Amino acid sequence: MTFRLPPSSSHRWTNCALAVPASQAYPDEPEGDEAREGTCAAWVAQTVLTGMSVNCAALINYTHENGWLITAEMARDVQEYVDLIHKRGGTTSCEAFVTLSTDPLIAGTTDLTATIASIPTLYVDDLKYGRKIVEVRKNTQLVIYAAAILRKYAPGTFNLVQLGIYQPRAFHRDGTYRKWVVSVADIERMAAEIIEAGRRAYAPNPIGTAGEWCTYCPIATRCEALAQTNYARITVVHSQSHRDMTPLELSRELDFIEEADATLKARKKAVQAEAEQRARSERIPRYGLEMGTGKRRFKATGEVVRMLTGKDPYEKQELCTPAELVRRGASKDVVNALSIVPNTGMKLIKVDENYIAKSFGE
Ligand code: SF4
Repeated sequence: MTFRLPPSSSHRWTNCALAVPASQAYPDEPEGDEAREGTCAAWVAQTVLTGMSVNCAALINYTHENGWLITAEMARDVQEYVDLIHKRGGTTSCEAFVTLSTDPLIAGTTDLTATIASIPTLYVDDLKYGRKIVEVRKNTQLVIYAAAILRKYAPGTFNLVQLGIYQPRAFHRDGTYRKWVVSVADIERMAAEIIEAGRRAYAPNPIGTAGEWCTYCPIATRCEALAQTNYARITVVHSQSHRDMTPLELSRELDFIEEADATLKARKKAVQAEAEQRARSERIPRYGLEMGTGKRRFKATGEVVRMLTGKDPYEKQELCTPAELVRRGASKDVVNALSIVPNTGMKLIKVDENYIAKSFGE
């Protein structure tokens, strides 16, 4: 079987040999909203860094080829990343396709940037626009990219590599920009371990190993390793004993819960998404689809709301909610006419006794 081990999912296939070979048997899933937004933000950064646009603001209201609209907020966030790279000086390249190894084939498109500003340091940075925290230490995607770039230069050109993650929309104790400086020798050692993990994916009968990397795995709903890892963690025990935990027990318990939570969430997310999709054309016993609704919000401007209700919706600096204005004495009928309850798309619901009773108004 021939397949490619992409840098973007290296956090998964370096931990689980089964993920990539098994996913070859199934069609690619369409990109989710989070991935499309991230691709769009990375494209904005690259367009400016490669000089094809004067700045990010010039791209506002353009649409990426995946359909994602560039908003003023995205332009502002990405411009901060671009400014950070520009401030460093030197030359920056955004190589779209990199190859770390041909056997096993570890290669793929990336949206990372490499900057040569002050030899002997190579700077490799990645913009992460999602809110799920991405750590920089031992980040396999950055290591693959750095090692692939280093191979283009004569040995000894660089001594150090600074890896960086810029994540503007997620709080992290180390800040928006997190960096990790490592020697070239360490990058090469980590790259050799990644190549070794790639060989395990190519070996006959690769084994699945479940862990937090199962999140968004394309075969998470079909995978026995993930399903049974979760089942094995759910055992009902009858006992009379109880006592306080020691600090060490508490610490170990927290580690266990974090690990168990990650594999359960990975499976839950994948199974719910598949059920939601299939419920459109198949009957899923005891489950159905219902139109989801968001929170009621004003559809009229704050000024119009003030004129027609006689109440100031900006009492606390920002536009208040319709419910808050009614609490302050505005007419409920007028507020309802000035606001909407937005639809949030079809969502999966459990059709149990409570749901049926509620549907009949009980
Ligand atoms: S779901 Fe988890 S264990 Fe199964 S193939 Fe994917 S990463 Fe491996």
